[in-house]
Amino acid sequence: MSKTIFEKIADHEIPSNIVYEDDVCVAFTDAFPLSKGHTLVIPRKPVENIYDLDEKTGAHIMKVITEVANAIKTAFNPAGLNVVQNNGEYASQTVFHIHFHLIPRYESEYDGF
Ligand code: 5GP
Repeated sequence: MSKTIFEKIADHEIPSNIVYEDDVCVAFTDAFPLSKGHTLVIPRKPVENIYDLDEKTGAHIMKVITEVANAIKTAFNPAGLNVVQNNGEYASQTVFHIHFHLIPRYESEYDGF
């Protein structure tokens, strides 16, 4: 099966702004950020969605999400932060390699959502 764009990013085959990486996962900034600091966390291995994520990888990703969230808080001091993860076309998933969005929210951009 051909690689998704995120697997290529994890393998350093295409450029991206990687902010953290280890043996299991990679964090990089979103190419079309919804806000300043919008970051994605993915496993290196090609897992499509939450249904296929094994417990060990999921636990490690959760640890990295908390670390990246704290790094975003320190760097940008947002008023809030969403962690979002979409599964399937009808849930707005567009890249079929599981990813967790970390979306900082700022008072100046608040519109009640
Ligand atoms: P989804 O809608 O699948 O949950 O989110 C996919 C996200 O990937 C979107 O926020 C989109 O902006 C981001 N994205 C798509 N292609 C690329 C890319 O080539 N590089 C990076 N850094 N982000 C991408």
